[in-house]
Amino acid sequence: MTAIYNFSAGPAVLPQDVLKQAQEELPNWHGSGMSVMEMSHRGKEFMGIIERAEADLRELMNIPANYKVLFLQGGATAQFSAIPMNLLRGKTTADYVYTGEWAKKAIKEAKRYCTVNIVASSEDKNFMYAPPQSQWKLNPDAAYVHYTSNETIQGVEFNWVPETNGVPLVADMSSHILSRPIDITKYALIYAGAQKNIGPAGLTIVIVREDLLGNTLPFTPMLFDYKVEADNASMMNTPPTYAIYMAGLVFAWLKKLGGIAKMEEINIAKSKLLYDYIDSTDFYQSPVNKPDRSRMNVPFTLAKADLDEEFLKQAKAAGLLQLKGHRSVGGMRASIYNAMPIDGVKSLVAFMTDFETKNK
Ligand SMILES: *Cc1c(COP(=O)(O)O)cnc(C)c1O
Repeated sequence: MTAIYNFSAGPAVLPQDVLKQAQEELPNWHGSGMSVMEMSHRGKEFMGIIERAEADLRELMNIPANYKVLFLQGGATAQFSAIPMNLLRGKTTADYVYTGEWAKKAIKEAKRYCTVNIVASSEDKNFMYAPPQSQWKLNPDAAYVHYTSNETIQGVEFNWVPETNGVPLVADMSSHILSRPIDITKYALIYAGAQKNIGPAGLTIVIVREDLLGNTLPFTPMLFDYKVEADNASMMNTPPTYAIYMAGLVFAWLKKLGGIAKMEEINIAKSKLLYDYIDSTDFYQSPVNKPDRSRMNVPFTLAKADLDEEFLKQAKAAGLLQLKGHRSVGGMRASIYNAMPIDGVKSLVAFMTDFETKNK
């Protein structure tokens, strides 16, 4: 049987070793006689699982002690509302960078709670670049500055950290968290839905500096209040226990691999392989401004767009799944998250080369 590789943008590929471990542990976790799915979230077994997961994440990302790590639900989308509710803190405006589909959704939701100031936008070029800092028109009175550090749909990644002159910086890192080392201290809040680079859907991770907590809008639902969640160790209600367990296995897998610096090396190698090939031929194109190309999500188009369907059909037959691009961009998109092995990218490039030869 030939190997199958899943290039889905999310929910996405998980490490094979993690899936196998979860399979082994599924009916009876570590001799407890219970599946993780059956455990009380307040029992000592699950408390050990969530504490280990948090400790490993803190170690991997080098998270300082004055930051809280929250394990929440509702996806990154729930954070689009929770962020203004928690971070406005008496102010009435927030700065947002408009870089694509996810930024657009974050902005739309924030407008329900405050005046949104668009400080920079890449809409003029169909969102195919990251607006450079020199174009940002920051408001010094903004409650915070929000940007989408990797636009999953457009395949645009910031490889630099914005300077906000003391205004709290907030990043939606859903689709590239844990893919490269970052300096947490530059951020007030980082959030990410799990289903791209962390684990299964249903879990959202929020990393927030603790001095920002405790001043929410009056109507903030209890479950959206970061202070309430922090004070209750993310157990104000039943957390997504199985997704947390799976995330913990992924963190352990990353540690074993050599940590985030090692992961970044692999991600650089994988993305270079694919972009170099795309750039070597006129048959395929990458629409994204070169320095801003995402290492995680690689949109590309075929010069002959009438071959799109045939490409997808043959790719699927070759075991290369979920390569269809998002409808707003068209063409193809290969998401090559942490868990995508380099052999998957090699297989994709081999298939693309073969397809080109046969259809030139
Ligand atoms: C997938 C994604 C989201 C939405 O995540 P949900 O878990 O579906 O709410 C938000 N932002 C980015 C950058 C994403 O990739």
